[in-house]
Amino acid sequence: MEQLRIHTYGDPVLRRESQKIKDFDSKTRFFCRSMIDFLSKSKDGVGLAAPQVGFNQQVIVINLSLIGEDQGLSPRGFLCLVNPRIIKKSAQKKKGAEGCLSLPGTSVKVKRAVEVEVKGWSLANNEKITIKARDFLARVLQHEIDHLKGVLIIDYLPFWRRSREIKKLIKRVN
Ligand SMILES: [Zn+2]
Repeated sequence: MEQLRIHTYGDPVLRRESQKIKDFDSKTRFFCRSMIDFLSKSKDGVGLAAPQVGFNQQVIVINLSLIGEDQGLSPRGFLCLVNPRIIKKSAQKKKGAEGCLSLPGTSVKVKRAVEVEVKGWSLANNEKITIKARDFLARVLQHEIDHLKGVLIIDYLPFWRRSREIKKLIKRVN
């Protein structure tokens, strides 16, 4: 696999729906580890979804050491989930500012469920797991799973603000 790089706004890979991974084989494991390695080197990325590095595959990675709260997961290391699905969402929602490695310099306040339950195959556990997450981790999971559907944070903006942000973004990424 060639060196991973961040694909930024305007790249069609960010807008495509990602494919489910059928085999949790050595190729999948290698890809997961490459994504973890890439995220660990990025300065401010909390999470990363495969389309952001150019692959429309259902894989997300989260740097747990930047989550900073006890969520019942080891605060060290990385969470890698393959084929993640949100199976439960709290009715309670909260607005919070989010950035994205693919949208440099953009910050959007997104209203998201405060608590989620996510099911997916975990690289560390080597099996399907269910994660009950709240607050920041729940937000990051929803953000990364959005990427697998081709959804970006600017999509949550009202039309007039979105066009303004897109103009600024295009200048930044070109
Ligand atoms: Zn993002």
